[in-house]
Amino acid sequence: MARTKDLEQKGAGLRKQEDLTLLHEVSIATAGVSNLEMCIQCGSCGGSCPSAADMDHTPRMIFAMLRAGMRDDVLRSTTPWVCVSCYHCVVRCPQKVHIPDVMYSLKGMAIEAKLFTDSTAPDFAQSFIEMVETFGRSYELGLATRHYLKHYPLRLPGMAMMGFGMLTSKRMGIIPNRIKGMDQLKSILDKAKTLELTS
Ligand code: SF4
Ligand code: SF4
Repeated sequence: MARTKDLEQKGAGLRKQEDLTLLHEVSIATAGVSNLEMCIQCGSCGGSCPSAADMDHTPRMIFAMLRAGMRDDVLRSTTPWVCVSCYHCVVRCPQKVHIPDVMYSLKGMAIEAKLFTDSTAPDFAQSFIEMVETFGRSYELGLATRHYLKHYPLRLPGMAMMGFGMLTSKRMGIIPNRIKGMDQLKSILDKAKTLELTS
């Protein structure tokens, strides 16, 4: 609470001399047209966000901090990592800001700047990518087991009942199911990696 108040005071001070360099940098780093500069600080995004309670700053606050040039505070925030890309906020945003896409940019910038050191979310993303590269789709049982064993081993027994229910109702497979056309998917992924390296 005290930290949020500090940040608000810092932001209010900086607003007097607005420097939009950071805001533009994030906007340019975001795929497509972010509309980030169009944010009117209405707060509808945070109000409709199912993950807001777990965020240290709402999306609205993050965008105000970007406008205030608070690079390190933004890149240390948990907010982008808690965003689950549900797009509720995009539907509600009157300015059509592409909020989850901005969150992806912030995650990349935080890793690059070595300002977000909690490996939990990046590990999960890496495991997910490995599953897609191997099977062409997610393998939920393997993904969840690996993640909980590594980061939350004590919570694993509690997850067992839910996992069993998903298996018996066929919401989840016990063995991975490889897609057809893995060669084509591999070509697409290789091309995407090449484009990423050259961009
Ligand atoms: S809903 Fe859109 S305009 Fe409103 S604060 Fe969020 S991003 Fe800004
Ligand atoms: S996309 Fe992210 S920021 Fe937007 S409502 Fe969903 S979890 Fe919240």
